[in-house]
Amino acid sequence: MADKIALVTGASSGIGRATAELLAQNGYYVFALARRMYRLEQIRSNHIEPICLDVTDDAAVRQAVAHIISTRGRIDVLVNNAGISQPGAVECVPLEIAHRQIEVNLFGYARFMQAVLPHMRERRSGCIVNIVSVLSRISVPGFGWYSASKYAIEALTDAVRGEVMEFGVKVVLIAPGVIKTEFVPNELRAMEKIPHPVAYEKLLAGVHNLVAGEPEAPGPEIIAKAVLEAVKAPTPPVRHALPLDSKMSVMARWLLGGRIFAWAVRFRMKFPRE
Ligand code: NDP
Repeated sequence: MADKIALVTGASSGIGRATAELLAQNGYYVFALARRMYRLEQIRSNHIEPICLDVTDDAAVRQAVAHIISTRGRIDVLVNNAGISQPGAVECVPLEIAHRQIEVNLFGYARFMQAVLPHMRERRSGCIVNIVSVLSRISVPGFGWYSASKYAIEALTDAVRGEVMEFGVKVVLIAPGVIKTEFVPNELRAMEKIPHPVAYEKLLAGVHNLVAGEPEAPGPEIIAKAVLEAVKAPTPPVRHALPLDSKMSVMARWLLGGRIFAWAVRFRMKFPRE
């Protein structure tokens, strides 16, 4: 019972899995959550306990947190990480799919914050890390619904941080740039499933161009390391954007202003000049 207790969502692959493993190597007892149990079983150990759940399921989230509290007595760290991306033209993504995007990425995080905060508040300690994105401060063609979900979680996180600071609970945003996981291949597959009129062909090609560097992008370990540093820090950063492309993109938007930045994005996506 001496270990610190962490809960990591989306732990069956990518950033969540790397984070669960790194926290476990650093003295945390980790509850690793996702839907694909067979993937979670691959990381089960004396320090990692899988829980199968969909973050959109209210009852399952309440049950998981109750299980952690009843077996381990507390939750020191929540890493909200489970996420999906549905690229495509805003006009063409069916609203039920857009709803799912918001349900997983925004309410999925909110559901866990609501479930763990009463315990953290009572113990007057805890750390919540919300994984957002470079696209939670800039919005680019083809990623409207994803950005909407991530902008919203940034807004919610900034509010929560101020609300729970006096209870000794820390709240951190970590904003990855492009990271080599299953995420980009999955989102491109999801985009292909959305029917688009021919007029949007260049947009779809532009989305591919924008993520073309993914095979050379850093792996999820760099984000896991940032999470570990944040949860161990007495005063963690409010928002940590990494690697450099994540920091630079937001800075470029601020320095260039909306119009020139939008032109630069279209250039990068290889859209024709206006
Ligand atoms: P992966 O696709 O590798 O992992 C996503 C994880 O989320 C999986 O473990 C998946 O598990 C889980 N998940 C998805 N939907 C649900 C659901 N409804 N309920 C429970 N779990 C779910 O992607 P990454 O590791 O790259 O992404 C992690 C986070 O990082 C996301 O929030 C993403 O937005 C963010 N991010 C990623 C970037 C990248 O380039 N990779 C860039 C910027 C941000 P399962 O399917 O088993 O349920």
